[in-house]
Amino acid sequence: MNELKQALNDYGFFTKKSLGQNFLFDKNILAKIANGSDGVCLEIGPGPGGLTEELCKRCDKVVAVEIDTKIFEFLKDYMSAYENLALINADFLKLDIYKLYEEHIKKPFNVAANLPYYITTPVLMKILESSLPVKKIKVLVQKEVASRIASPPGSREYGVLSVMVQCRGSAKVLFDVPPGAFSPPPKVTSSVIEIEISESKKIDSTYDDFRRCVKSGFSNRRKQMANNIAVDYGISKDRVYKIFDTMGIDRDIRAEKLSFQQFDELCYNLKKI
Ligand code: SAM
Repeated sequence: MNELKQALNDYGFFTKKSLGQNFLFDKNILAKIANGSDGVCLEIGPGPGGLTEELCKRCDKVVAVEIDTKIFEFLKDYMSAYENLALINADFLKLDIYKLYEEHIKKPFNVAANLPYYITTPVLMKILESSLPVKKIKVLVQKEVASRIASPPGSREYGVLSVMVQCRGSAKVLFDVPPGAFSPPPKVTSSVIEIEISESKKIDSTYDDFRRCVKSGFSNRRKQMANNIAVDYGISKDRVYKIFDTMGIDRDIRAEKLSFQQFDELCYNLKKI
């Protein structure tokens, strides 16, 4: 048995489904995810530390945030030889990311993770909506989420997460990881996705305004976007049509068709009202 898996068994740890604990012990897959990481890396959900160790071997510093106190204690002990590891026992979704940055990161950084499926979107949104200097995000997510993130405007899978990722950088799906590679195996296939964040801001709107506009556009996929925007912004549909006319887009357009640049323009026009 893999040395880490054995150590975890000896520790008497039982995985918690509620925390999305599907661990990876395969060194080849872990190395493939960690490859290319350098400088400071933020890891969300280090679990027993398979990925953490590969990151520690390649990076100057790894800052890892784990919610589960029991596995956090195991990891602290198992990884004690790595002086470049800062372990934090906290819920990433509740944590003050700016404080984390000031205390532990302090410079442009990368993000790596084998993310629990149930928090993939909020974790990515929290990072993407921050103004912190993120360089690259390389995460293992559900295959279906990976293709949603990378899908272009006009495709069926294109949605809020795709727009929010694409307005910050460019995403590509690197490779799939089958359920059998995890312990315990999840029900679905996973994929590793890499998001290169642009150095300069790609939109003129603030991320808060932009997110509001995108979420509003997609709020009811069965309805026309003009309707969704009119309801959410409390303005008449005619007013929205006028904005669409000045932007040169069809009045009956659906949010799935709009690029992030068009959402930015829409956001600017809505701000002017
Ligand atoms: N990185 C490890 C690996 O690849 O084997 C573990 C990955 S497992 C899919 C997800 C990890 O995220 C678990 O250790 C879980 O306890 C942790 N986790 C779940 N929710 C979290 C949260 N809100 N904040 C921080 N960690 C979380």
